[in-house]
Amino acid sequence: MSAAEALRRLPAVDRVLQHPEVRAAVERGDLPRPAVVEAAREVLERIRSRVREGGGDVPGLDEVARQTLARAGRRVAPRLGRVINATGVVLHTNLGRAPLAEEAREALLRAAGYCNVEFRLATGERGHRHEVVEEVLRELTGAEAACVVNNNAAAVLLGLSALARDREVVVSRGELVEIGGSFRVPDVMAQSGAVLREVGTTNKTHLDDYERAIGPDTALLLKVHTSNYRILGFTASVPAADLVRLARAHGLAVMEDLGSGCFVDLAGVGVEPEPTVAEAVAAGVDLVTFSGDKLLGGPQAGILVGRRAAVDACARHPLMRALRPDKLTLAALEATLGLYRDPTRVLERVPALRMLSASLGELEARARGLARELAERVGSRAEVGMARDVSRVGGGALPLAELPTWVVEIRPAGGGVSELEARLRRRRPPVVGRVREGVLVLDPRTVETEEEADLVEAVARALDSTEEQR
Ligand SMILES: *Cc1c(COP(=O)(O)O)cnc(C)c1O
Repeated sequence: MSAAEALRRLPAVDRVLQHPEVRAAVERGDLPRPAVVEAAREVLERIRSRVREGGGDVPGLDEVARQTLARAGRRVAPRLGRVINATGVVLHTNLGRAPLAEEAREALLRAAGYCNVEFRLATGERGHRHEVVEEVLRELTGAEAACVVNNNAAAVLLGLSALARDREVVVSRGELVEIGGSFRVPDVMAQSGAVLREVGTTNKTHLDDYERAIGPDTALLLKVHTSNYRILGFTASVPAADLVRLARAHGLAVMEDLGSGCFVDLAGVGVEPEPTVAEAVAAGVDLVTFSGDKLLGGPQAGILVGRRAAVDACARHPLMRALRPDKLTLAALEATLGLYRDPTRVLERVPALRMLSASLGELEARARGLARELAERVGSRAEVGMARDVSRVGGGALPLAELPTWVVEIRPAGGGVSELEARLRRRRPPVVGRVREGVLVLDPRTVETEEEADLVEAVARALDSTEEQR
């Protein structure tokens, strides 16, 4: 039979839509009709071009219907979904940075319908959305005032626009940071309309460098935390308290971009100390900015705290309307901040902090348990072992911190570790690990205990060559 004859037997789109299973799926509302029509067209087109190129038979109507349903199903499936993070990178920006606490997840749902985001229930008046978290932020940081925007990049842009538009901002050359490839201090400065005045050198900047740069156009002294890199060796930078003293003497303001905005002392966790928000506030900094989803462990947000005049200037700035957070962010942030009111429990209840502070003994026990279960499930299909390794903080925070951990190592029999990695990525839920020299590495630090069963199941099935991979 020629290709042309074979193709004449191919059903038309309408016939595929009349197939009982396709019709039933549309009638039940499982699949929207336009998605099914589009999928049927694509399936038929692929068959046509394959047959024309001499590659195979024309499938029957049942097979075309099956492929159409599968394709339409993939088309309407959500793109965004849960991922099991076995990379050991706690604040993994590509995987959504900080995983939210249970309390924050519940708060998101409570606020999802109508909620009092800008409504004062006591008086029936219109309120400001900052009021949702201002009090708890003041309580936790000691600041006079607080407001919230979409992320810390927005907070820095807003702060510079509100405090220094068309005027000069003095910054140390050692603090002109780039974070995540698109947040660059000089570029944000340009966008804000402020004029960058660099002082000092890459490794050393002194107080008199700032002092000499102060002139009639100066509005602000800016300090930026070098979140994602360290300058080692012979270095000098000026503490915030000294900048504040200098600024006051000249009637200027000080702004500090803290990046992570840590609220707790991480010394107990065994990482280098990160400046806390309360320290910056206590030093007298007018405006302190930081992220909600880095070491704070909450939703993506940019938080501004500090003196009343500086925060009000931001809250009233026209840009605020474009940068303001939505009710879901505020709900999750309020719940996360609420957990910090109990400092004895916060390390347990905020997942990012719990993961960072997990002990080596605990991680070893979890890796051992996982390795044992995996070895039982996969039999001779892979070699399963354990090894000492390091986890990372991620999210451009604490770049030098190497958190000692225990990992599970999986070496598929007959190689094929990249195939295993790819299969795990395409499962539901997907599992993301690390590949190192023919071994798949899974770090229990970033895997929730409740996810372990799913993880074992995923690896066992991904190693099963007879299993139809989904
Ligand atoms: C991470 C970071 C930012 C950007 O914060 P986002 O919340 O990612 O927008 C800005 N400045 C510093 C110092 C940072 O560490």
